[in-house]
Amino acid sequence: MSALYLGPLLLLVALHQSSGVDLLRALIFVALAVGSVLAHELAHALTARALGVPVRHIALTWFGGYASFWVQPTRWRDAAIAFAGPAANLLIASILFAILAVLPSQDATWIEGADIYVRPHNPNLIEYAVRAGAFLNLALGLFNLLPGLPLDGGHILRTVLSTRMSLGRAGWIAAWAGIVIGVVAIAYAIWVESFAILFVGLFVAGSAWGERRAMR
Ligand SMILES: [Zn+2]
Repeated sequence: MSALYLGPLLLLVALHQSSGVDLLRALIFVALAVGSVLAHELAHALTARALGVPVRHIALTWFGGYASFWVQPTRWRDAAIAFAGPAANLLIASILFAILAVLPSQDATWIEGADIYVRPHNPNLIEYAVRAGAFLNLALGLFNLLPGLPLDGGHILRTVLSTRMSLGRAGWIAAWAGIVIGVVAIAYAIWVESFAILFVGLFVAGSAWGERRAMR
């Protein structure tokens, strides 16, 4: 966690607040986002260690990240380490969704006459936190599984393709897939006018472009 992340985090608090959420909920949201990304990274690191691959450093991006190694792990180890990150997020998401299903909605009120339950605009803090954590982890897990480098799904795609072609060619295709994912994300960001998605799209497209050049 470097000071570099303070800027985006403060921006995230501000953006979240501007969407009509109070400061406390915005702070909870950002804390959950940081915790979810850390869980993702920890899963990469622990899997790498379990497979006997020394980790050089873990690159933290604010939508996930990936590990780099002193020694390039074998293809299937690389895929397993890559899969562990999103898998951790999907596991956390399913646990939180299960909790959400049994959590009593204390704030729902019965309206006499209308005969309906009305859910308040702001549910209580615990319910908010569990719900936000569930959706955050679901989004992190699914996004990072998209099959393009530098995303975790791109590592898995490269390994799968490499059973039918050279690792270099498989990596080249996975990098191009990443460029396509980045460009689609940028187009979507412009369409929905989202700075956060634009930032992620630019990062993915830029990194994929770099990976493609390294592959040649
Ligand atoms: Zn990852």
